[in-house]
Amino acid sequence: MTDKWVVGKDPGQIDSRGADTYEATAWGRRYVARDGSTRDLWLLSFGATKEDRPKAEKAAAAFVAARGMPAKGGWKARHTPVPAGSLHPGRTSAPERVRVIEFGCGVGTSATLLDWDRATAHQRFASDAWPALIRAIDDTRALPGSSCVDCKALSGCGALARSPGLLQITPTGPKRARRSVSVTDLRSYRDCPAKYHATRQLKLRSAQPESSEIRRGRAVDSWLNERHGTHPHDGCRDLPGPADPSSWNVGGLHLVGKEAEDGAAMLEQHAYVCPLNGLGPGELVRVQHQVACFDPELDLVLIATPDLLYTRSGSWVWWEMKTANSRLYEGEPLMARYPQLAMGVLMLAAGVLGGNIARSRVELELLHCDDLTLEELDPSRPRVVSEAREVIAALARPWAEDQLYPATPGRSCRSCEARNWCRSGRDHLAAATEES
Ligand SMILES: [Zn+2]
Repeated sequence: MTDKWVVGKDPGQIDSRGADTYEATAWGRRYVARDGSTRDLWLLSFGATKEDRPKAEKAAAAFVAARGMPAKGGWKARHTPVPAGSLHPGRTSAPERVRVIEFGCGVGTSATLLDWDRATAHQRFASDAWPALIRAIDDTRALPGSSCVDCKALSGCGALARSPGLLQITPTGPKRARRSVSVTDLRSYRDCPAKYHATRQLKLRSAQPESSEIRRGRAVDSWLNERHGTHPHDGCRDLPGPADPSSWNVGGLHLVGKEAEDGAAMLEQHAYVCPLNGLGPGELVRVQHQVACFDPELDLVLIATPDLLYTRSGSWVWWEMKTANSRLYEGEPLMARYPQLAMGVLMLAAGVLGGNIARSRVELELLHCDDLTLEELDPSRPRVVSEAREVIAALARPWAEDQLYPATPGRSCRSCEARNWCRSGRDHLAAATEES
């Protein structure tokens, strides 16, 4: 159906939020049974089916399917209801049943997220979606991050820290539109510019299975994020690990066998040294919090999402956790191997988070199955800062100048998420297979 489903009321008085119109709609493909008894809303994902949508999102989608009336327009204006007489009666009657179905366009699979009667859709909207919607409507805080890139109010915004010269890169070539960049972007670019362009800019990623090591890392990460995000903040020391170390679930991942056992052993290693163990009740803790700063000369928003930020006696500590099979070798440059640490040093040194920089730290916890390594970097030491700057500038300089993002086939093709869309990469792999 080309009409949208829209729930809304006639405009009222301008309220305390400065709004006179509230409308809810849901983006997706809409289908109605000819007799109007059932409506299906298909939500489309780029890659694989996304079955872990938040319950608020699912309930809001079901509510729009259950209550929405056909309407047009809506772009920077109110929607216009489609006159009831101009449509087949089934399209304007309230359905008895709604289904929300997820479709992964990249792999062509679908999953039914919910199949509710009308009353359930209303109840679940009130219990699951409404509180989240109210929070979203009332929250007027500025949250600097990747959305700053196309924000028209950036020049007058005091919430985004300015850090001119952070990268010490001189802009070259014609002026470009404002961009954002993270260490993940830069590492992807280092692997291959075409991979960066496909996966980070165009968001094209294939659903090919990840390596066991990456899955295990993601599971450990999710487990710790959930733990560290609980209130009041408490360390992991006294909390049990997975009940069955050889089979456990977290964040939509299911680990079994050796992969699960290794992950559980890493969680046990972490519990002894969790940075939140014994942390004072007045300290602040932020889990997976996006930190951003702006370089006006490069018109560039730098983005980082440390695993954990917490204060220790009022000074910020930037904490990163990695899982690894291999240990650091003696004298290995830490920031070159883990450039996230270099970005943390630069942002802390630039005062992006505030607090006393002399007592701020970047910490790395490197978890192995049978051991762990702890490292610490001091962003108030000039030598540490200049090394961090070199690491990030070496990654960022070629990225900043590139306009074409050519493919550079090589070792990273085998695990590349973009190879479905990359002829050079596929040719490279085919040639490598023939040779072997
Ligand atoms: Zn912990």
